[in-house]
Amino acid sequence: NKMDLFDKFNPIKEAYSPLTSGGGDPFGVAFDRIASPTIGLINNREIVLAGTNNYLGLTFDDAVITAGQQALRTFGTGTTGSRIANGTFGPHRLLEEEMATHYGMSSAIVFTTGYQANLSVVAGLAQKGDQIFIDADCHASIYDACQLSGAEIIRFAHNDPTSLDRRLARSDPNSSNKLVIVEGLYSMFGDVSPLAEFVEVKKRHKAYLMVDEAHSFGVFGDRGLGLAEAHGVLDGADFLVGTFSKSLAGIGGFAVSNHPDFNFLRVAARAYMFTASSSAASVEVTRAALKVIAARPELRTDLWKNARRLHAGLKAKGFGLMAEPSPVVAVDFGDPARAARAWNALLQLGVYVNLAIPPGTPNSKSLLRCSVSAAHTSDQIDFVINCFEKVAEMA
Ligand code: PMP
Repeated sequence: NKMDLFDKFNPIKEAYSPLTSGGGDPFGVAFDRIASPTIGLINNREIVLAGTNNYLGLTFDDAVITAGQQALRTFGTGTTGSRIANGTFGPHRLLEEEMATHYGMSSAIVFTTGYQANLSVVAGLAQKGDQIFIDADCHASIYDACQLSGAEIIRFAHNDPTSLDRRLARSDPNSSNKLVIVEGLYSMFGDVSPLAEFVEVKKRHKAYLMVDEAHSFGVFGDRGLGLAEAHGVLDGADFLVGTFSKSLAGIGGFAVSNHPDFNFLRVAARAYMFTASSSAASVEVTRAALKVIAARPELRTDLWKNARRLHAGLKAKGFGLMAEPSPVVAVDFGDPARAARAWNALLQLGVYVNLAIPPGTPNSKSLLRCSVSAAHTSDQIDFVINCFEKVAEMA
């Protein structure tokens, strides 16, 4: 009773059709042009971008663009190869040195994407016989990485150090290596991890700790290094992982560590070895963005001012928000069909946010997820709030 290969899509097709009944496809948007970090164009209509993870708005920064342009001329368009073959250029090495220096750590490795950074660190370090303790709300790339490793995967309750403690206590302290994985700022609800408590638990159980700062780099900490910096536990995490695709305005990923053997990951991690390296242009864009972040801490001030304005404005209108103020503001819309109707209506009014529905969301929530940028004007934030109010009545 062999099925057609595509029969497995039938439930997906069924779930998809109500999402597109409003005319647009929430998972198939294409912008014809991007005019600025906060304005995109679709069919010559200006759309306020309120779901792009462009936290510091650096994708159109002059210095950042110039760095990318110069690298295109100097190094060409692509690298045409892996980091361990022909694909390591001067800029990759320089970015690694700069990230290590920034964090005050002995090693930094640059990957082609944040997704591949997670695959590399987790599946490069853990293997069959090891145990990975993962926060239940961790990103799909971390789940995939755990699967790839072959280690035993043990989930603990989201943001709950006591739950982690219990699971670690139940496991034999001598039988396996233990790796704990949490994130800094969680991308769907916009809530943050109690990192200091996790560090205390992992130390007591002699486990390793990895923190994914994908959404927190550039957002938290006096120097913008992320939540571990903000919570004063940079030295408590064994591995910090992040992406260049959000605050850093490029594409790529990184991992930093003080472990003396960390660099052997380069010849152990398949997601590092068997993929082309990121383009020199993307690496130079990231290096330039790092410099801007260091030189302009006021970007973080602007980001948080906008985040608080959006959060307070939506809250005042009675919306159900998933977390305390942060640059990710997730609005509860009940069920997928209603969330999709509201998403469509928002786009009609000229606002782009992310539709986030099960199984991609924690607790089966149906959300319209906003991400705020330092580049938003107060008027743009107020426009978004007003549009939310209008669509709540319509949807
Ligand atoms: N980790 C987390 C927590 C993420 O949210 C993301 C991307 N949204 C990634 C990793 C992957 O990063 P990238 O987009 O660079 O592959």
